[in-house]
Amino acid sequence: MAVSGRGPYDPQNIFAKILRGEIPCRKVYENDYALAFHDIAPQAPVHVLVIPKGPYVSFADFSQAAGDAEIAGFTRAVGHVAGLLGLDEDGYRLLANMGVAAGQEVPHFHVHLFGGAALGPMLH
Ligand code: IMP
Repeated sequence: MAVSGRGPYDPQNIFAKILRGEIPCRKVYENDYALAFHDIAPQAPVHVLVIPKGPYVSFADFSQAAGDAEIAGFTRAVGHVAGLLGLDEDGYRLLANMGVAAGQEVPHFHVHLFGGAALGPMLH
C-alpha cells in the first residue's frame, strides 16, 4: 500500500529494521551515510536499494531536513555502489518514489538503482 512521503517517521518500518540489523538483507555496501542492499523483488537484472542512515521518510523529507554532509555522503554512496556493481559503462537508472502518487511503499527514503540490461522507458 502506498504511503505518504510526509512524516512522522515510523521507526518500525522495514528499512529501519534492516538498518538496525533486526531483519536480514543482501548487503552490497555500507558506510556512515548509506546502506545498499538487493531489492527483495527485483525488476531488473540488477535492482539495488540505497538508503540513508538517518530517519527520513522520503526524498522530500531528506532533501529538506538532512544536513549537507549527509546529502553529499549519500549521493556519493549511490554513485559508488553503481561503480561497485559494474554499471558505469553500460549505464543505469535511479528512481525515488515520493508519496502516494508515486506509489511509495516503504516510508524510509530510498533510491532504486536499476541496471544490467537495456531498460524500458519506465520501471517501478
Ligand atoms: P517503493 O515502492 O519505492 O517504496 O519501493 C519499495 C521497495 O522495497 C520495493 O521494490 C520492494 O520490493 C522492496 N522491499 C520491500 N521489503 C524489502 C526487504 O525486506 N528487503 C529488500 N527489499 C524490500
